[in-house]
Amino acid sequence: MENFLLRNIENPNSADINEYLKVGGYKNLTKSLGMKPKDIIEEVKKSGLRGRGGAGFPAAMKWNFATADPKFPKYLLCNADEGEPGTFKDRPILEKNPHLLIEGMVISGYALGSEYGYIYLRGEYPQAKDILNEAIKQAYEKKYLGDDILGKGVKFHLSVYQGAGAYICGEETALIESIEGKKGQPRSKPPFPVNVGAWSMPTIVNNVETLSNVPYIMEIGGDAYSNIGSKDCPGPKLFSVSGYVEKPGVYELPMGISLRDIIYKHAGGIKDSKKLKAVIPGGISTPVLPADGIDCAMDFVSMPKAGSMLGSGAVIVLDESVCMVRVAYRALKFFEHESCGKCVPCREGTDWLRKILERIENGKGSEGDIYLLSDVAGLISGRTFCPLGDGAAGVVTGMIKHFRNEFEEHIKNKKCVVS
Ligand code: SF4
Repeated sequence: MENFLLRNIENPNSADINEYLKVGGYKNLTKSLGMKPKDIIEEVKKSGLRGRGGAGFPAAMKWNFATADPKFPKYLLCNADEGEPGTFKDRPILEKNPHLLIEGMVISGYALGSEYGYIYLRGEYPQAKDILNEAIKQAYEKKYLGDDILGKGVKFHLSVYQGAGAYICGEETALIESIEGKKGQPRSKPPFPVNVGAWSMPTIVNNVETLSNVPYIMEIGGDAYSNIGSKDCPGPKLFSVSGYVEKPGVYELPMGISLRDIIYKHAGGIKDSKKLKAVIPGGISTPVLPADGIDCAMDFVSMPKAGSMLGSGAVIVLDESVCMVRVAYRALKFFEHESCGKCVPCREGTDWLRKILERIENGKGSEGDIYLLSDVAGLISGRTFCPLGDGAAGVVTGMIKHFRNEFEEHIKNKKCVVS
């Protein structure tokens, strides 16, 4: 499959608007502005595009909810807050192909009847901020942004809002709170942001990769797009592959490709010819799969059947030298730190999980600790305000399910016997 999302990124000046124009950039915007907004949404519906941020919600359905609401103004927010360990798939778009995202946002804004867009950028991407701001400036100069885009009377303004480094602001309602200048904590739903979002107005929050797919749908048409990759979740997908592989990086591949092919065909296999032990397939919050669980299709429908989730498509590969107790401990240190504190099961539960894992990791675990971990994880799961709590609990239960022996060995031997 030819790259679209990562097209031209080997060009050292790929972020410059003139380089983007040379490879057909903004022609899909020109084409889209000649169409009715409802026809653009229809193409997106036909394409079967699902949100690429992790939830996999059908993009056109979300758009239709927002357009059905007569309130105005409507806001289009791009979620560029990829803060989960292992996830760096949006970064090449933000830093090397920013005009693709801008083009996708202007087309989407036109389709949705939105005149204002914001890119909510993670605090740890300072380079991307400068690149995006320069790209936005260039787009204004060439009239791809502004009050009268390409002389068609269409208005869309765009700016970058940089977060302060909180993982929870990747959750759409916490992102909205943050962009309003408040503490980034999730809101109660309903009402959903499509009706009551930023500044209480209808708001569509889409991920960077989701919005960057829109020009491609307009280029080849919804029907052709729906034939790429898996039937239920079509289109190209970005996978960020990290850990013990020969060629870590971001790969654009058809949705539904097998996890095995991502690791062995594209990422070069396991580093130094060691044995694969486990894979965390969709970012640290998705349940771990053992080495014999990698013959699964990477899409939103197939991965739950395989015992995990697609998440953001952040594939973390672990070889035989990795201690799974340590992986669980490091993950829970992250979740404990990033818990926003709004609800008790997550705030207290992640703290307890981290403490128990820490003592097992340090050779101070006792016999009942595995039971205690499962018990605390069970008390968190399904009882939290947002998915962070479930993610933290899922990491622990997944690790115990597949690597219980390593926890037992740690407790029995008072040390790690793996590494
Ligand atoms: Fe905050 Fe955790 Fe509750 Fe989410 S689950 S609202 S991060 S305390």
